[in-house]
Amino acid sequence: MRLIMLGAPGAGKGTQAVRVADRFGIPHISTGDIFRANIKNGTELGKKAKSFMDAGKLVPDELVCDLVADRISKEDCEKGFILDGFPRTIPQAEALDAAVEKLGTKIDYAVDIEVPDENIIERMGGRRTCPGCGASYHIKYIPTKKEGICDVCGSAIIQREDDKPETVKTRLEVYHAQTQPLIDYYSAKGVLAEVDGTQPMDTVFAQIVEKLGE
Ligand code: AMP
Repeated sequence: MRLIMLGAPGAGKGTQAVRVADRFGIPHISTGDIFRANIKNGTELGKKAKSFMDAGKLVPDELVCDLVADRISKEDCEKGFILDGFPRTIPQAEALDAAVEKLGTKIDYAVDIEVPDENIIERMGGRRTCPGCGASYHIKYIPTKKEGICDVCGSAIIQREDDKPETVKTRLEVYHAQTQPLIDYYSAKGVLAEVDGTQPMDTVFAQIVEKLGE
């Protein structure tokens, strides 16, 4: 099962991708996570990516396409993978097509999690992250037990730079201009699976599993 997760930032791609990966026993590959790990480790790639990410812009295609092509050629991806946050532009989708073709495979489904902008703004504005262990919270929907403190590791939780209101606005603009065209791209290939992302998490997951045919 070779899958792509599409959807606006904050649509719940990451959460659902982890569950789908678990259900199908395939690796979850998040380009956002890869960049954040590189920033944390102070790598060259991290240094190059950081300014784009903090501004809510996309990291240039040339920094991400080879990285993903290399990752999906690893042994653990032989039976499939789920890409979360890639592709985000038409050139990235074309690069992915070339990479899977080289591996003699194809993308089975592009799952699009649909959520209106108003919901996204509310979700992302309230999102908090633990810099210590990576746990995610929401001030209204998933609050910490003790205000401002991570339930898992006790670190002070933060608002990610790219979840701040101005940046969220830019990320949504970038999404509509550059990533939304991928919906037509995968629809034309007959692999688009659309789900209603405004539903509770379990319902969204059930819709995805149903569309994927299991
Ligand atoms: P995410 O966690 O997927 O929302 O990604 C966080 C940020 O990482 C994005 O706002 C981009 O700056 C960068 N990023 C992640 N994936 C890509 C991609 N496929 N192409 C360009 N930039 C990306």
